[in-house]
Amino acid sequence: MEQIELGDVTVTRVKEYYGSVDTSPADFFPDSTERDWEANKDWLAPDFWEPATNTCISAIQTWVLHSEGRTILVDTGVGNHKERPYAGVWSRRDTAFLDNLAAAGVQPEDVDLVINTHLHIDHVGWNTRLDGRTWVPTFPNATYLMPERDFDFWNPANEHKSVFGRGNQNVFEDSVTPVHEAGMTQLWDETYQIDANLRLDLAPGHTPGSSVLTLESGSDRAVFVGDLIHTPLQIVGPHINSCFCEDPAESRTTRHRLLGRASDDNALLFPAHLGGHGAVEVVRDDSSFAIKGWAGFAHIS
Ligand SMILES: [Zn+2]
Repeated sequence: MEQIELGDVTVTRVKEYYGSVDTSPADFFPDSTERDWEANKDWLAPDFWEPATNTCISAIQTWVLHSEGRTILVDTGVGNHKERPYAGVWSRRDTAFLDNLAAAGVQPEDVDLVINTHLHIDHVGWNTRLDGRTWVPTFPNATYLMPERDFDFWNPANEHKSVFGRGNQNVFEDSVTPVHEAGMTQLWDETYQIDANLRLDLAPGHTPGSSVLTLESGSDRAVFVGDLIHTPLQIVGPHINSCFCEDPAESRTTRHRLLGRASDDNALLFPAHLGGHGAVEVVRDDSSFAIKGWAGFAHIS
């Protein structure tokens, strides 16, 4: 188990999946060039890119935070048994995520808060689990914090047309609606103060309601940026979007702003899907950014 103490907050990494996402850098990050990957190969491989198969490597993981006596999950991965015919890697999975969570000392009923940084397929999956033929909330005592703009964007009642298009089908229905109908969602907009250590802020671009979680405790700072950064190549090339960014221009602006903030505040950056060390320190480098160092997690058994 990998854990790091940041001020009064304990951050634990719980993995659901780690490996190839069967997608080439050119498909996943259309703004990037072959040269970008080759020039940074010495640190992108093998944690974030497998050159032999030319596929991207991603982690699907949940950050478990203990803050002010509460247990908080940041993003809930892909989930088990979900029908995702348009996304083979994420369809009908059967992983040991809940066992991994238990190994980190967390039972479903212990969870007080669930944060979905945005409502994409790989961030809301474990919001629910299959009970017979019914999707039920996985964490029966939790409040689920969801960005209102994403909730409205993907609510089938609003008939929105996403550029991500068919890539998020069923997701609202099986992973958001059951929680909402159980009266367990708290929709928020602009900003939401969770406690003295943690605050959510809107950071649109990747999706309309994409958000970042800022941790400020003692002299420690961290920012959980969801999918604004998918690969650390986007740190040295903040203009590079993933193919899943709904608003490419806004995504670039937001990414640049947040990387600047993380650099100036000396904040540890936690992207949702970073493999390897999982979190990274960044510094300004002319009009771009550079990697200053990687997070040092303690390995606890
Ligand atoms: Zn994601």
